[in-house]
Amino acid sequence: MAPLWWQSNRADFMNGLGRGQDQDCVIEEQVRTDRLHQLFRQSFAAIFGSYMAALMLCWLCWERFDHQVILVWLVVLALSSLLRIKMFMEWFRCPNAERTPERWERRYWVTLMLSAGIWGAGALAVMPTDDRLSQALVMLFTVGMSVSAVSCYSAYRYMTLASMALVLLPCTVWLLFQPSSMQVGVAIAVLVFSTFVVSATRKLSDALEKAFRLTRQMERAHSISTRAAQTDELTGLMNRRAFFEHAQVLYEQCRHNRQPLCALMMDMDHFKAINDTYGHQAGDQVLRQIGGVISASFRQADVYGRLGGEEFAVLLPNTSLDTARAIAEQLIKAISGLASEPVHGLTASLGVASTHARDQDLHGLMNTADKALYRAKAQGRNQVAVAE
Ligand code: GH3
Ligand code: MG
Ligand code: MG
Repeated sequence: MAPLWWQSNRADFMNGLGRGQDQDCVIEEQVRTDRLHQLFRQSFAAIFGSYMAALMLCWLCWERFDHQVILVWLVVLALSSLLRIKMFMEWFRCPNAERTPERWERRYWVTLMLSAGIWGAGALAVMPTDDRLSQALVMLFTVGMSVSAVSCYSAYRYMTLASMALVLLPCTVWLLFQPSSMQVGVAIAVLVFSTFVVSATRKLSDALEKAFRLTRQMERAHSISTRAAQTDELTGLMNRRAFFEHAQVLYEQCRHNRQPLCALMMDMDHFKAINDTYGHQAGDQVLRQIGGVISASFRQADVYGRLGGEEFAVLLPNTSLDTARAIAEQLIKAISGLASEPVHGLTASLGVASTHARDQDLHGLMNTADKALYRAKAQGRNQVAVAE
C-alpha cells in the first residue's frame, strides 16, 4: 500500500534530493513535450482554416483568376491538408507516452512547411498581373494567414516564422518588384507589419516556455515538499503522520474487501543503553540500518514507518496472524544479524495483532499490538508476543 512513487523514488530521495543537473534535464525534456502538446492542441483547426481561406479567396476572385490554376492549387492544397489530418489522427490515437518530440516534431515541421509552401506558391500563381483589386485581396488573405500562424504555432517560434515566410514572401517579393509605386508600397507595408509580428512571436514563445517551465518546477517542488513532510529524515521510512494516513487508507480497503489486517509494533530493546555506551551517533546509525532492513523486508502492499524514537510499525494486509508472527520472528532475526560496528547484539521486541481476531478500528488494532509489545518486553524482550 505504500504508494508507487514512494517505492520508486525512495532511493532518489535518499540521495539527498540531489543531482540537480539531472533534474534540470528532466524538466527541460518535460517543457519540450509540453510545447509539442500545446502545438497539437492549438493547430488542428488551422488545417481547415487555411483550406477555407484558399477556397474563399478563389470564390471571391472566381471571375478574375485563371480557373485551371485555381483547380490545381485547391487539389494540391487538399492533398497536403489530408496529409496533416492523417498525422493528427495518428497523434490522437497515439498513447501519451509515445507523444514525444523525437517522434513528432520533424513530422510536424515537414507537413506544415509543405502546406505553407503550397499556400504561398498557390497565392502567387493565382495572382493576376494586371488586376490591382485581386492583388490587394490576395495580399489581404496572405497577411491574414500569416497572422493566424502566430496563434496556431506560437509554442514553436521558428515554425511560426517559417510558415509565415512561406505564405507571405512569394506574393510580397513579387509585388516589391512591380512597376507601380502602389504595389511596391503595399509590399513594403506588409514587410514592416511583419517585423512587429516577428517580435511578437518571440515574446509569445518565451512566455509560453516560461509558463511550462514554472509549472513543471512547481510540480517538482510540490512533490519534494510533500515527500519531505511525509518522510522520516533519519531512516527514510514514512514518518508517524504519513504512516497513519496510509494506514487508515489500507485499513478501509481491507475492511471493504473483508480481508484480515495485521499490525506489528516494534521497539528496540535497551536502546538508551546503546546511546549511553556508544554515543548518540552510533545509535542513529543503528536506526538507519533498521530502516534499511524494514524497507527491504516488506511488500509493496504493506505500510511501514517509524512512529518515533526507536519504535516502528508495520501493517500487513491480507495476512494471517500466524504469518504475521513468522514475519515478526524473521525481523528479529534480521535485526540480531545486523553488524553496526561498534554496536552488536541488537535485539528488538514485537507485538502482533490482527483485525481478524477482534473487530476494531485502526487505533484499536494499534493499541492491541502495543499491549502485546509490552508483554514481549515484560516477558524478557528479544521476542514476539501475539495479542490474545
Ligand atoms: P526498552 O525499550 O527495552 O524498555 O529500553 P529502551 O532503553 O529502549 O527504552 P525506551 O524505549 O523507553 O527508550 C528509547 C531510547 O531511544 C531513548 C532515547 O535515548 C533513544 N532514542 C530515541 N530516539 C532516538 C534517535 O533518534 N536517535 C538515537 N540515537 N536514539 C534515540
Ligand atoms: Mg526501547
Ligand atoms: Mg521506545
